[in-house]
Amino acid sequence: MSSIAKIPESPSVDAEAPSLAPEHAELLVALDRMLTVGSYYPPGHEKYREVAAAAHRAVARAAGPQGVVAIEITEPGLTMGLSFAPADGREAKRLHKMLMPLDIALAPIAFMYFMYGRFYFAKLYIASTDCDTCRLCEEKCPTASIRMINKRPFWKFTCESCMRCINICPRQAIQASHSLAVVIAVASSLLPIAIMLKILNAHIPAALQKPVDFIINWGISLTLYFIISGTVFWLIRLKWINKLFSATSLTKYWRRYIAPGIKPRDY
Ligand code: SF4
Ligand code: SF4
Repeated sequence: MSSIAKIPESPSVDAEAPSLAPEHAELLVALDRMLTVGSYYPPGHEKYREVAAAAHRAVARAAGPQGVVAIEITEPGLTMGLSFAPADGREAKRLHKMLMPLDIALAPIAFMYFMYGRFYFAKLYIASTDCDTCRLCEEKCPTASIRMINKRPFWKFTCESCMRCINICPRQAIQASHSLAVVIAVASSLLPIAIMLKILNAHIPAALQKPVDFIINWGISLTLYFIISGTVFWLIRLKWINKLFSATSLTKYWRRYIAPGIKPRDY
């Protein structure tokens, strides 16, 4: 235990930085200290509990009587409560550095969400027969992922599943088709993939089998998503097919959410 380094009294954040309000700069310092306790003392170490408790008290003190501070990181910079630090300022950079281990720990989840969110969920959107081609969804999509084809919205792979379009459609015509999800899932897990992998695996070294399986699985799945969702887009021009996919979408039965006082065109 004696070889363990002592946690510095003033960790990486500079409390004197001018842009954030003093209490928020103090909170940032306290957070940094709390997050780094584990780097200096292992949980079993006699000092760990003492230092962690002190850091925790400092966070609680700096957070004020309500115990809650909203922290938002956007392109222009870091907002804490009512104070702001520009993105190129020391505090914003330090907060990013502080959160880096968390970002790394969450990277696999983020990657899977990226793959499933963008290439799977996003391809489940359909416009029901209630769509009147008002084009609001196309106009308000933050990533320009909706294209009107033959007067009907078509969702591109760039969609990030933010759900804005589904919530603001004045006719509640956008559905995420769960029956289409089932069709895609079943089709992409069909026998040909397993057979292909078996044949390939017989010819490649064992160490490469997992990455090759991953690439082939995704390659085939993406191709199928593309073909099936494209086919369904054309098929739902037929009213009864459209009604079938819409009626089997759970979103047809969910409420839409827009914050009170906000109108779809306000976005
Ligand atoms: S907002 Fe709704 S009604 Fe308007 S074009 Fe998009 S899906 Fe159709
Ligand atoms: S879910 Fe969001 S990103 Fe995707 S099309 Fe709708 S508004 Fe655009």
